Amino acid sequence: MGARGGRSARSLRAGRGAPLGEPHIEFTFSAQAESVRPLARHFFEEHITPEVRARMHFSWDGHDPVIQRKLAEAGLLFPSWPREYGGRNADPWQASVIREEFMRAGWTTHAIGTTGMVADTVLAFGSEELKREVLPRISRGEATCALGYSEPGSGSDVAAAQTRAVRDGDHWVIDGQKMFTSGAHLAQYVFLLTRTDPRAAKHKGLTMFLVPLDTPGIEVQPIETLSDERTNATYYAGVRVPDRYRVGPVDGGWSVLHHALDLEHGGGGGGSGAEHRKLAEAAAAWARRSGRWSDPRTRERLGFVAARAEISRLLGISSFWSRVTRRSPRGEGAMSKLFVAEAWIEDAADMMDLCAPDSILKTGAPGAVGGGEVEFAYRHSTALSIYGGSSEIMRSIIAQEALGMPRSRS
Ligand SMILES: Cc1cc2nc3c(=O)[nH]c(=O)nc-3n(C[C@H](O)[C@H](O)[C@H](O)COP(=O)(O)OP(=O)(O)OC[C@H]3O[C@@H](n4cnc5c(N)ncnc54)[C@H](O)[C@@H]3O)c2cc1C
Repeated sequence: MGARGGRSARSLRAGRGAPLGEPHIEFTFSAQAESVRPLARHFFEEHITPEVRARMHFSWDGHDPVIQRKLAEAGLLFPSWPREYGGRNADPWQASVIREEFMRAGWTTHAIGTTGMVADTVLAFGSEELKREVLPRISRGEATCALGYSEPGSGSDVAAAQTRAVRDGDHWVIDGQKMFTSGAHLAQYVFLLTRTDPRAAKHKGLTMFLVPLDTPGIEVQPIETLSDERTNATYYAGVRVPDRYRVGPVDGGWSVLHHALDLEHGGGGGGSGAEHRKLAEAAAAWARRSGRWSDPRTRERLGFVAARAEISRLLGISSFWSRVTRRSPRGEGAMSKLFVAEAWIEDAADMMDLCAPDSILKTGAPGAVGGGEVEFAYRHSTALSIYGGSSEIMRSIIAQEALGMPRSRS
């Protein structure tokens, strides 16, 4: 898997004379992609000081602007971007390896992940003027982007957005409300879905903007969630935005949004399943300490969780491979997101049960399993089955893209 071309001892090959020829699956990254791993590992060893560790949180609130700039200086932020916008044209698999190291260090990828998706979409659809203004700031680690799609009346049915943008000369005036605009209290831009033609059919008449969050008329209110993850309601009242912040054609926002959503549904690559693995490791360490390791049924349950963490990792890489090789989508991203979320929910519940009563102790409490990892996974896993598209919507995408069934959503 990955960009590797040679034969690896860990590769699987079909037997001689198999009807498929010799399908060849790599389970390791190429040497070129791996070459960045020592740099990334060293970066986190050097920069995650005890003070930084005390502030770390696996959410947007864990975003640290100082570390973000240092990541950029080290060439670890968006390495595969074109040079003219601040990247270094690196092999896209290097970004996957770096992401694995982020997860290994426990460093949040929330801000970097959403910003990367938005920037990739600006690269594909933005005007040259917008790219030159925004992308270098992002690649230097000076700006991040939040996603402004969901509204009080439209989440899964995202194309039903009602937030209005009305043209006024070379500006647009935006009025409306968004729900769950995660990171809007920290980011510099919000990637905003608006309705520009209310008379057009639902998927037409939509336009995307990259709105600077310091524009007058924007209000950000916190929403706290079960998983200790702050998100926001955002309000837009007479927000005036120059036309240069439009991303893609007027009334053609659906294909722009589709590009960004495809990236969100598992196209990021690298680091998938890492939280699941931490859950398995935390529970295994507890089992050894508590004497439960000698029980074969306990080891079987732990082995099951570790195996599913590995499947999650491989599905993430597989969906990224589909994107990098530009294959037409066959539901790989949705399959990856669905499995990662649902398997993590089930296994977090099972490990909560296995390690009870210690598993109910939260981070910071003496005796908490894995420093609170099991308790956190139990709460956090549920959110993963909602944001970025719920599990039901992922099933619908798989039915449509992979099985060729008729579209079930309007
Ligand atoms: C922690 C968190 C962070 C988030 N961050 C962001 C963000 O940064 N930006 C952003 O824009 N949004 C964000 N969201 C919003 C998220 O994308 C939506 O919550 C999600 O898409 C579901 O939409 P909804 O809440 O309106 O639920 P609904 O769409 O009302 O769905 C309710 C239930 O009905 C099911 N359902 C809906 N339609 C169908 C269908 N056609 N077939 C079968 N079942 C269906 C859903 O699966 C769900 O179980 C976040 C949400 C959470 C919880």
